[in-house]
Formats: sequence, C-alpha cells, structure tokens
Amino acid sequence: MNKFYITTPIYYVNGKPSIGHTYTTVAADALARFHRLKKEDVYFVTGTDENSQKNIQAMEATGESDPEVYLARMAAEWKQTWRDLDISIDDFIRTSEPRHLAGVERFWNAVKETGDIYEGEYEGLYCVGCEAFKATSDLVEDRCPLHPNKELETLKEKNYFFRLTKYREELLKLYEAGNDFVMPESRRHEIRNYVADHLSDISISREKKSVGIGIPVPGDDSQVIYVWFDALINYLTAIGYGTDETKFEHLWPADLHLVGKEIIKFHCALWPAMLMSAAKNDPLLREENGSAKLPKQVFAHGFFTIDGQKISKSLGNAIDPRALVPTYGFDAIRYYLLREIPFGEDGDFSHTRLQERYTADLANTLGNLLNRAVAMSRKYFDGKVPDPFVTQAALPEVSGEWSGKEGLDALAVAVGKAYEHTRVDHALELIWSGADRAHGAGLSQANKYIEDTQPFKLVKENPEAVGRILYALLEACRWYAWLLHPVMPQASKQIFFQIGLNEEKELSERWDEALVWGKLKAGTPLPEPRPLFPRLNEEST
Ligand SMILES: [Zn+2]
Repeated sequence: MNKFYITTPIYYVNGKPSIGHTYTTVAADALARFHRLKKEDVYFVTGTDENSQKNIQAMEATGESDPEVYLARMAAEWKQTWRDLDISIDDFIRTSEPRHLAGVERFWNAVKETGDIYEGEYEGLYCVGCEAFKATSDLVEDRCPLHPNKELETLKEKNYFFRLTKYREELLKLYEAGNDFVMPESRRHEIRNYVADHLSDISISREKKSVGIGIPVPGDDSQVIYVWFDALINYLTAIGYGTDETKFEHLWPADLHLVGKEIIKFHCALWPAMLMSAAKNDPLLREENGSAKLPKQVFAHGFFTIDGQKISKSLGNAIDPRALVPTYGFDAIRYYLLREIPFGEDGDFSHTRLQERYTADLANTLGNLLNRAVAMSRKYFDGKVPDPFVTQAALPEVSGEWSGKEGLDALAVAVGKAYEHTRVDHALELIWSGADRAHGAGLSQANKYIEDTQPFKLVKENPEAVGRILYALLEACRWYAWLLHPVMPQASKQIFFQIGLNEEKELSERWDEALVWGKLKAGTPLPEPRPLFPRLNEEST
C-alpha cells in the first residue's frame, strides 16, 4: 500500500489560530482526504512549536507565570480549533513532549558526529518575532519587514554553529528542475538564488540564561537549541524518530511539507542540509545507497490580506476562523479559502467575496442542482431513483448537450490530477465548469442540462426520457460528492444522504472503483430534500 505523509508547519502558541494558519491546515486536510479516498496509508500531522521566546512573551502579557500551564492550555485550544473545522489530523505533536526531546537529542548527536557543529561567537541583530537573526540586507528602515513594530535585539554570545555552507552544492543539485523539491517554481528560483549567493553557517544554540526556554544542548547545559533547529525535527519525531523505528521507517520521508512562503529558507535550505548531515551518522535517515532520505516536496503558499489590507494586530483585522462558522458553516469557509486563491500565490480574504461565492457557487449551483434532481425524482418516480434502462426512449434534442458519462470520466481524471499536484483551487474550478468546457459534465453544465431539457415540462409527453435525464443527474451528484469530499466533507456526506446512499459505505470503496458510471441503483428511496446551503440571512452577515 502506498503511504502519504503530509505535514503543516507546527505553529507558535503566542496567539490563536488565524485565517492564515487555517488556510495551510485546511489545504493539507483536503490533500490528506484525497489520498485517503485513493486508499493510501495517509498520515497527517500538525502541532505546536513550544520552545520559543515568543510564547513566553505572550504568556507574560496575559499575566500567567507557569509556562507548562500556558503551553498546555494553548496547545489544547489549537487542537480544538482544528477539530471544530473538521480537520482530519492523525497526530498532533507538541515540541515539549518527551518523544520530541528524545528524537532531537538523537538528531543533534548525529550531526555532531558528522563534524558539522562547531563553537563560535555570534553577534548580530535578532528579531524575536521571527526567532531569527537578521542580516542588514533583510532589513527595511532598520527594522524587520515582517515585524516593523518590534525592536531588533543585538545579541553577542557563545553559540554552536551548523556548517550549512558545506551543503551548498548538494542543495543546489536538489533544486534542479525536475526534482520539484521546492514548489511552486517561483519559490524555487528564490531559494536557489539565496543558497547560491547568501548562504552562511548558522548559529543553532543560545545561551540558556538569555532565552529562558528551549531544549538543552546535549552535553552542554549552559546552552539551549535554537528553536528552528528543534522545530524542524518535529517532522521526524511525530512519526517515531527516536521512539518507534518501525513506524518511522514506514512513513519517512515526508511526501509533502506544506508551508507559508515566509519560512521557505528554513524548510528548503536548512532542513534538507540538516538531514544530509545527520544521515551520515544515522542509518534511519539514509537510503541504502548512502544518500539522505529527504522530504519529497515542500510546497509554499502565499500570504493573505484581509479586504486588501495586511493582517496586523494594530489594525485589529485578524479573523478568527471559528467566528465565521455559525454564519457559513465550515464547509463554505473551507471552499472559499481553497477556491478563491490560486494555491501558491498571494490572496485576499474578503467577506463580500465569501458571501458571493456562498450564494453563487454553493447555494445556487451545487445546492440547487441536488435539490432539483432529488425533488423531481421524488415527484415523478414515486420517491425513488428512476430506472434509466426501463426504455430506450430517445432523449430530447438539446443544444450544447451535457455529456454525462464521458464528461464525468474526463472530469474525475482531471480533478484527480489537480489534487495530486496540490492544486486544490484548480480541482474546484474543474468541478464547477467541467474538464471540457464545451461538452463537459461540471456543475454548471449539469444545471444547464436541466434548463435545456426542461424535465418538468417533458414529463407529460415522455416520462421515460425524463427518467433517464434525472437518473443521469442523480448519478452525477454521486460523483460530485466524491470529487468534493476532500474540500467539503460535510456537504459531501449530505449529498450522499440525499441521493439515498450511506457515506461510510460509499467511501469504503476506492476512488477509481467508485467513480464508475451507473453505480447508483435504480429504485433507491430518496429522502425529503433539504437545502444543502441555506440562503444567508441578511442580518447574520
Ligand atoms: Zn521579524
């Protein structure tokens, strides 16, 4: 069985999950669900990055004083948010857990054994917002461009360094086109330029007394490990590195790390270099030929603005995704985030657009199609799925005929490819408009088919033809429920229910076995239809 190991970054717990975190996590969830439909052995991990000064500063601002209590409370809140948004995680890792500490120690020792850790003195400008040293070339008006309100600190201390520059050539080889290690391509160019021209060794520890939190450096209690060096290792420790070798060997390397574009230097340069180094002294991390087992791909998505403005605490425009759920339901939020923004590019979150998409795409197109197909079948065919084979009655001539079976075959192939290539936005666009715009079987074309054939008029003169039309539409709804499940699991379940199917039974099949025309059985009883996406109440928006 194929395995599919997918991760989000682990998040700092200095605040609540925002719409940006939600975007990454929902995208990862959609991909995890798609691979589960293919009956792959999926493992989907997210978690919290707890060994950071940022968390401590946030804790102090709340008046709390016990980091353990604060971290546990915040981690629970993050975990609950993902539950509330129907995120299907297999594991949630906290970097304060013993299983993480065990793996970090093993990893540090392997890198040290390779000879890639040395002592040095570091002096530099440090941004606590980024938890990173900043080069003068990174600054805008002497400040961190991501945290213009934070004073940069000048740090000078004894640190351990990692020989990152030793891996320049190997990294450049990794970025060669065709490897698709960094996606999308624009980010690959960016990271290649950075590694070719600006790579330097980095400090991977801090004096314990100056940061107050962190994992102790093995063998030197006066130092703690730099938070990014420890955080990246979560991708290993979450699947048993240092604690469960069998599990680890089954799941590593990761198939996909989804990240925001602001952290690609860490994921696309530091992380593979760390793995190349540790692999030399840890057989768990290398292939039989001796090369390091590296993640297959890092996919970086863009930044969000809200109604055209940068998200910032001072503007107070951050959106708590859970606050949107009572109005729209979580499926609509998931749909909007994944549909509206081409994955990999920057995008804008707008309440107006969310409402427009809800009404046009979900209520009027998807909801209406299901409702009309079910309501007419109940009315004309005794509350059941009509039998398309009862007669060979000719279908009425319609312009731009909807191509049912062939169109859906093409659609499922195209949608599968889009999900496979991390282009969830593209998959959704296809489901609405069809793989072939002229004769496709997308949702819009299915609706048009009803308008063109007018079953409600035709039923008097040619009920057999209407039976075939309605069967085709109900069967198409079954396909749409499959194709949409990764993005809208609740709506998908509802669609199955309304066409008389049981979701659990339906999804126990494999994607390619289920997506075969004609599996919906004639005579299946249809329950009373109800709106899949009820109209938005003006007051509630
Ligand atoms: Zn910063």
